[in-house]
Amino acid sequence: MSSHADDAPSGAAGTSPAGLTAGGLNPTLSAPVPYAGDAYDEFARQWAHSVQGTSYVPLPLADMQVYLRDLTRRLSSALGSEPFQPHEARSIGEALVAAHFTGTGTLERTFALIGAWWPVLRERAYAERHDPDAYLLRLIQIQGALAAGYAEALRTRTLHEQQSIHAAVLDARELTEQALHTSEARFRAVFEQSGLGIAIGDVDGVILDVNPALAQMFGFHTDDLTGRQVRDFMLADDPGHVWQWYEELVRGEREHFSAEKRYLRADGEPLWTHLTVSLVRDTAGHPEYQVAMIEDVTDRHRLYTRLRHQSQHDPLTGLPNRALFFDRLDAVFAAPGDADRVGLCYLDLDGFKVVNDSLGHDVGDQLLIAVARRLDAYVSRAGHLIARMGGDEFVVLVEHSAGTGQVVALAEGILGALREPFRIRGHDLAVTASIGIVERPVAGTGPADTMRAADITLYWAKSGGRGRWTVFDTERNDREVARYTLSAEMPAALHHGEFDVDYQPLVSLADGAVLGVEALVRWRHPRQGLIGPDRFIGLAEETGLIVPLGMYVLERACREARRWRDLGGPVPFVSVNLAERQCHEPGLVRQVRRVLAETGLEPERLQFELTESQIMATDGGPLERLRELAEMGVRIAIDDFGTGYSNLAYLRRLPVCELKIAGSFVEGLRGSGDADPDPVDARIVASLVDLAHALGLTVTAEGIETAAQAERLRDIGCDAGQGWYFSRPGPADRIATLLDGVPRVR
Ligand code: C2E
Ligand code: MG
Ligand code: MG
Repeated sequence: MSSHADDAPSGAAGTSPAGLTAGGLNPTLSAPVPYAGDAYDEFARQWAHSVQGTSYVPLPLADMQVYLRDLTRRLSSALGSEPFQPHEARSIGEALVAAHFTGTGTLERTFALIGAWWPVLRERAYAERHDPDAYLLRLIQIQGALAAGYAEALRTRTLHEQQSIHAAVLDARELTEQALHTSEARFRAVFEQSGLGIAIGDVDGVILDVNPALAQMFGFHTDDLTGRQVRDFMLADDPGHVWQWYEELVRGEREHFSAEKRYLRADGEPLWTHLTVSLVRDTAGHPEYQVAMIEDVTDRHRLYTRLRHQSQHDPLTGLPNRALFFDRLDAVFAAPGDADRVGLCYLDLDGFKVVNDSLGHDVGDQLLIAVARRLDAYVSRAGHLIARMGGDEFVVLVEHSAGTGQVVALAEGILGALREPFRIRGHDLAVTASIGIVERPVAGTGPADTMRAADITLYWAKSGGRGRWTVFDTERNDREVARYTLSAEMPAALHHGEFDVDYQPLVSLADGAVLGVEALVRWRHPRQGLIGPDRFIGLAEETGLIVPLGMYVLERACREARRWRDLGGPVPFVSVNLAERQCHEPGLVRQVRRVLAETGLEPERLQFELTESQIMATDGGPLERLRELAEMGVRIAIDDFGTGYSNLAYLRRLPVCELKIAGSFVEGLRGSGDADPDPVDARIVASLVDLAHALGLTVTAEGIETAAQAERLRDIGCDAGQGWYFSRPGPADRIATLLDGVPRVR
């Protein structure tokens, strides 16, 4: 700007040209006088008001006025410049744009304000004798320059803005691509460097890409694998569900699955893997790719397999152990078909303990190994499982038995295979085995029940004489179960007073007097009713319960006998059966003494019956006890004489006073109808009676059921008789009645 304009004189301010109104310009305001410094403020104020609102200008009105005042001054100075330089006004246009006066109407209103200067200038031209047209021309040129500057600046600015938008767009795109690139690079790095095998395939099962880890795992080059079909890697032993899940996945019905699966490496070696397959969908959600991640677990698998083998095999013989056997047995029973049958041979070596004890455990172990080898060779050839159950016990499982015949043939084959002696450490060892066989339909039973049956049958085979097989017999088992149940119930039964004692008279054959009474125990079972002693005395002997049971009978019998004595007249003795086990009780004599003392019965009124075989086996302590009892005055009788093998000479050494001839001989004296009795039996009985008398013993015949028998026995010289002919065993009260009405001897 030239200094000239600033120094220009003022004086024309305040004139109000009529009709100079434009676009919201306040008509009362007069235009400022160009060249006059004082008028600038007013012009700037009007300018500010006039353009305010046309644009968004981030300036308060006061600041806007200051800014426009400067522009006014420059405008004025451009107008008055000498020589005239209109393009100065360009910068004013630019400045307007720079200050964001860019809205529509800004330029129009500015020009309206500038146009208002013309009357003032014209006046001044006249006054100063200038050419007014020159002033007008200046005014127009100034406006043109301002407009040009304004337009140019606006264009530049628009261009600039476009560029920055463009740049921003470019920046944004670049960022996205960069992000994509980063994630792609990250993926590649994972894919290439992962220790996990990764394969990408499409949903048709074509392998599109595999990573180096996967190729290495399989022993292939990556190119050998891409392009191949996923299903090429199917193996016959794949678990069925793996491929089912796979099909579901590629159909889009499953997002992922994991499984253990075996593959084959390029060199044919197995590759065990943990496999996870995931489905990748496109943006529309349709299945597009499958990604498989494969972890090589071969080492883990081998270790697991080895541990599993160890846990399922016997370390000594290498045969399957009981754990594996039970797994297989359980499997047989898991889902049985209607017609499925199963067979078991439960085998135990006979006398193995002797080998172990006499030749040492080492030889024993070697023998077991050799036996196992032979058994395995024979049984595995037949396609069955053989397991060592422990010790010298082995078991063979016939999973689809064709019937008992097949399993029996197998058992015979096993016994045959063992027939040849085993040569162990210079010893020729002959081995036999006992085999329990169970063969049955699978349905209706279970593994535990079948094993129990096999165990019982093995026991039968052993007790039946070794080196043989025995087949499970349901009826025999039922009997044994019943026996077992009964023996288990007996202690409580004794406690609850379920045992009762019946009495049967021993009658003089000469005059019918009741000489004695035999006490016979019965069990009033709450569910089974009355049970005779033949069913439970043997069991009681096995379990040892006979000792308290025998004592119970003794006490009751002595008490009853004491009552009979009180009836007056000749008193019979009470005859109580004494079991072998009771004779072995060291306290027997003391107990008998106590019972006699407690009941008040004389020892002479008590008789003990011992069987022939029992008496013959009696030795040592038991014999001493019998002698002691006899010395006390207690009578000792031999029961069921003739059924065992008595050394008659031996009888002399025993403290016996009576012989009871077994009912089976008396049977022969019965005769049927008019037929004569068996002469042999008659002679035997006669000899027995003679012999007994020679030894100083009295003789009682058991089981007399007819008068003829009684007659014949009396003729032979037999002293007494017992049997239904005289009286059946009955309750104690019946004996009392009987005694009341019967003449008594002794
Ligand atoms: P036992 O000592 O030989 O007893 C005689 C058995 O013959 C009794 O059978 C009796 O009922 C039966 N009997 C009696 N007369 C006749 C007859 O005319 N015909 C036939 N066929 N049988 C007759 P029970 O009572 O069944 O006793 C059987 C065996 O049980 C006894 O044989 C005895 O050995 C044993 N027993 C019974 N009670 C006891 C007891 O308290 N303790 C012990 N240890 N054994 C007992
Ligand atoms: Mg008896
Ligand atoms: Mg008898």
